Amino acid sequence: MQSKILRAREERWNKRINLVKRYHKPVVTITLNIPGKEKNDKILERTFKEIYELFKEILLTKHVKILYNEKQVTWDGPEAYMVVDISPISVKQIAVKFEENNDLGRIADIDVMNIDCKNISRQEVGFKTRKCYLCNNTAHYCTVNKTHRQEQILKKIYSIISEYFEVKNARVI
Ligand SMILES: [Zn+2]
Repeated sequence: MQSKILRAREERWNKRINLVKRYHKPVVTITLNIPGKEKNDKILERTFKEIYELFKEILLTKHVKILYNEKQVTWDGPEAYMVVDISPISVKQIAVKFEENNDLGRIADIDVMNIDCKNISRQEVGFKTRKCYLCNNTAHYCTVNKTHRQEQILKKIYSIISEYFEVKNARVI
């Protein structure tokens, strides 16, 4: 299973490079920011679909042309690709704002590859690195130091998701 996940990640990377080469425009990739191996359950797929739709909506409101888009599910979970007709810095800014401000933003991982096939970092657009789901350290720090048990993090993630859909469904009614 681990090797299938690694292969899926490698294929994602290659796919992004191929899209950059084909379009000469930045490539946005959306995945879920979830630790562990199990990324293909119904709730997570539903959450991914919601994140994808919300982010696409933001791009459309900002009149960003989406030249290509594709969604699929691999061993590493659901993923989406978008080739956008806007500068990589601008789309990364939109992406980080979404990650920071949207209720589901923390669960989204939105990467932007520029036309030199390099990922734009959060710092390049004036933001800090991501914070941990559970404490004030950076996510990287807690991952490296194994500060929290994976179940704790997953519990937090599922509570963010259920809160989001509860509020959303209440609004619909
Ligand atoms: Zn932490």
